[in-house]
Amino acid sequence: MVGRESHVGFTTNPHALSESIVRLARQQTATTRTEIAEATAAGKSIITQRVAELVGAGILIDEGTAASTGGRAPRALRFNRGGALLIGVEINAARIDVVATDFTGTIVLQTSEEHDVRDGPVATLARVIDLIDRVKHALPPGSPPVLGVGVGLPGPVDFTAGSMVSPPSLPAWNAYPFRARLARALGTEVWVDNDVNAMVVGERALDDDRSLQNVIVVNIGLGIGAGLFIDGRLYRGSDGGAGDIGHVAYGDSNVPCFCGKTGCLSTIAGGVALTEMARSHAGGSESAILGEVVRRAGRLTLHEVADAVALGDPFCIGIVAEAGRQIGRVISLMVGVLNPSLVILAGELCVDSDVLLTAVRTSVIAHAPTIASRALEIRNSRLGTWSGAIGAAQMCIDELLTADRIRSWVESGGRAFAEAPAVVAPAVSARPVH
Ligand SMILES: [Zn+2]
Repeated sequence: MVGRESHVGFTTNPHALSESIVRLARQQTATTRTEIAEATAAGKSIITQRVAELVGAGILIDEGTAASTGGRAPRALRFNRGGALLIGVEINAARIDVVATDFTGTIVLQTSEEHDVRDGPVATLARVIDLIDRVKHALPPGSPPVLGVGVGLPGPVDFTAGSMVSPPSLPAWNAYPFRARLARALGTEVWVDNDVNAMVVGERALDDDRSLQNVIVVNIGLGIGAGLFIDGRLYRGSDGGAGDIGHVAYGDSNVPCFCGKTGCLSTIAGGVALTEMARSHAGGSESAILGEVVRRAGRLTLHEVADAVALGDPFCIGIVAEAGRQIGRVISLMVGVLNPSLVILAGELCVDSDVLLTAVRTSVIAHAPTIASRALEIRNSRLGTWSGAIGAAQMCIDELLTADRIRSWVESGGRAFAEAPAVVAPAVSARPVH
């Protein structure tokens, strides 16, 4: 079927046509040569030639025959989404997650380690290189090639420069050329973005949501940030700071924030604030379940707060619900401004419990304009704590499947994508694997 991609930018550049053909096949909006010719307004003979090149490079698979409407069946084309792998990395405040995925976002290998991002960019880079090497070596023999690496970083990112820009609590990371250093060490193409931007790309890659044009992901970790996918594209803002709602002054609070200002949303509803509140009550009788969780784990982090909420601890449920009400008020402002169709909550507190979700939903319905909220869906992430890493991998796809790169693959005469499908994926775990 030819849909909204009709008459997509075919120009006199033949490789722009190849890029359009690959995009149409990926989106399954045009899967036969005739449909592609209609969608691109290009001639059948040039389409046949470009398709032959793309099949030769392994990027498209010629499936033989498609369902026929009578007469001779047209030959269908499919994007070879299992023929190459991507690696996605999420670096958050306390952990590094690494996944290898195919082009659908299906995980074929995953690993996760605790790591303090305040150790600085040099130490973090070394850990990331080591983890990626381990993932690559653990891939079964004959696995498809790894074509790109995407990294989500916990702060505002200059996407073009591939570095963080003035991250509020991580001064050592400012302007550190993470993308360039990692690319040099790996000998692979690397892209770097804000971790919540990666999350919104990962969430949207799921089958149900691939057609959605306006999606917001709000990540509630130690801080709070939003990834904005607006009008069909990631919206990063002028300086890479779009969605940094954790450092918006909110209400009448004058609590000092680590960013240097006071009264930020993070100081009343972020993970650091919630963990502090929990810590001050961990030994008290009003939080018996939390006390037990902390005794068992031997520590109190946001992870333990999330566990206590899931187990029904009234004190932790109370503070998380109150945080949800406050976060919901700020989300309602975004909903009023941007009118998304889907808001997804991500982070530890959204894995095993609906407490935060329910409070946010109630607050948004109460405070957002009716026209923007009546059809709005708000739900927890379906990718659990892996959404940033999966999204970082998916982020590579649009960067990789460009006219210039397709030209270099085709002109090299070899196969860019493997014939074999990606290895069978294990079930996705919502929790880090240690
Ligand atoms: Zn702040």
